[in-house]
Amino acid sequence: MIRARGRGRIGGARGTVNLSGTVAIPMISWARRWRRRAVRWAGAGADLLFPPSCRWCRCESHLEGGDLCSRCAREFRHDQARCQRCGAAAAEVSPRAGCSACGRRRPQWEGIAILGGYADPLREAILRIKRPGAEDLAAALARLLVEKHRPFFERAGIDAVVPVPMHWWRRWSRGTSSAEDIARPLGWAIGRDVRAVIVRTRATRMQNELPAEERGGNVAGAFRVRSSVAGRRVLVVDDVVTTGATLAACCRILREAGAAAVFGAALAMADRTADAWRTEVPA
Ligand SMILES: [Zn+2]
Ligand SMILES: [Zn+2]
Repeated sequence: MIRARGRGRIGGARGTVNLSGTVAIPMISWARRWRRRAVRWAGAGADLLFPPSCRWCRCESHLEGGDLCSRCAREFRHDQARCQRCGAAAAEVSPRAGCSACGRRRPQWEGIAILGGYADPLREAILRIKRPGAEDLAAALARLLVEKHRPFFERAGIDAVVPVPMHWWRRWSRGTSSAEDIARPLGWAIGRDVRAVIVRTRATRMQNELPAEERGGNVAGAFRVRSSVAGRRVLVVDDVVTTGATLAACCRILREAGAAAVFGAALAMADRTADAWRTEVPA
């Protein structure tokens, strides 16, 4: 069982809909505030007074790793087989060579860890962590991702964890960055530094507002590497990979800046492939 400590802080999310679609009774805000204080003052003994609840459905049954109930963890983790090279859902996958699509055209990253497909309840949870106040849910899902792909993270030999950046204006107006909220506890869980190495140099239109074929052009030239990554093995973290254009653009500039290897990690991948992350060069 992988547990993060310290900055992977727990507390604050307000999940209100549980997996069966019924409305869960949320812990009222003053009680949650007092529970957090009590945990700080009294440590684990506070659990007797305020039992911890699932970060998603808020039930108080057995929590896996102290974050999510076993039913939510199972639902979030449930997924069809995925290629660990490109991340696409694939029936036949060889761990080294990847899937048949990797054989035709290689992805921009060396490998990728995905928690699940972009469908409910994971989709609903990702939409939640795009808003402020759901850092504990983001942390729970990040830890679940690491737990699911522990061998991948060990094999990759990652030196630094880098969130996909938001333009400062969008970051300020939204009040949070889900990529950062995932990257921070993920870095703790694998024992690696989280570094904001990439900056977004211009605001781009939201990728989900554009047709798939325009997304690559939308993010082209929108990123810059601001400190040295030469010889480093870097993991780029985002909340969801749709066409892959954003993640591919980040991976490309990291490689151009001298990174020895670039990997990806995301909570979800949309199972429709515009192949925007693949190069034109056969692998
Ligand atoms: Zn739950
Ligand atoms: Zn593949």
